Amino acid sequence: MIYLTPPKHTGFAVAIDGPVGVGKSTNARKVANQLGMTYIDTGAMYRAIALFCLRQGINCHNEAAVIATLPQINIALHKQQIILNGEDITQKIRTQTISDTTSVIASYAPVRDKLLILQQELAAGTDVVMDGRDIASHVLPWAQVKIYLDADIKIRAQRRANDLAAKGQPADFDTVLQETITRDQRDKTRQHSPLTQTPDAIYTDTSNMTEDEVVAHIISYIHQARRP
Ligand code: C5P
Repeated sequence: MIYLTPPKHTGFAVAIDGPVGVGKSTNARKVANQLGMTYIDTGAMYRAIALFCLRQGINCHNEAAVIATLPQINIALHKQQIILNGEDITQKIRTQTISDTTSVIASYAPVRDKLLILQQELAAGTDVVMDGRDIASHVLPWAQVKIYLDADIKIRAQRRANDLAAKGQPADFDTVLQETITRDQRDKTRQHSPLTQTPDAIYTDTSNMTEDEVVAHIISYIHQARRP
């Protein structure tokens, strides 16, 4: 079932959205850990579906073929690990190929509906920090705190290139920049729940902020919202 209004058993919710490479996952995880809240990385769920399709040899541009695989896909989260049909795939979904494929399959409405139901179920009954592209607009529109993180595109591409290098997948800056532009474009212009800043979200440009500053900034809004 898809909730359009908060389920009765909803907890405190923090929605963090933003474009590629802005540091959503890192910052959201730190905020959740510091405050003892549950962290839900929705991008990892889309990546899990992309990995499944790639392993099946499915062309991600073939929407019908991608949709046909959905009943075979079971996704779960366990202690911040992402589990695909019982397998821990956390370390396997952070490649350029998966990133590229993911932004294609994420544009298909049945893919989004499947994950929307799962994401809302996971958020129910607990205090959550959830990050993605459509969290404030579609997944948890009732979130008490909504943050839209942004940063200059060259800075985001550089952060991604650094991340890839740290994972032993060095990539040329111009290639990463181009890939970042393409993914941003797909995420912002797709028909179904595109990346957007909701009017009630706090816009935060992290271009010149350290991770610790971003985390402290988000936590300060959470404290404000929780104050009686
Ligand atoms: O956040 P991350 O880079 O892991 O997300 C990978 C891709 O998954 C994004 O580029 C986007 O296409 C898709 N995504 C989405 N909606 C979300 C989270 C991720 O469409 N809530």
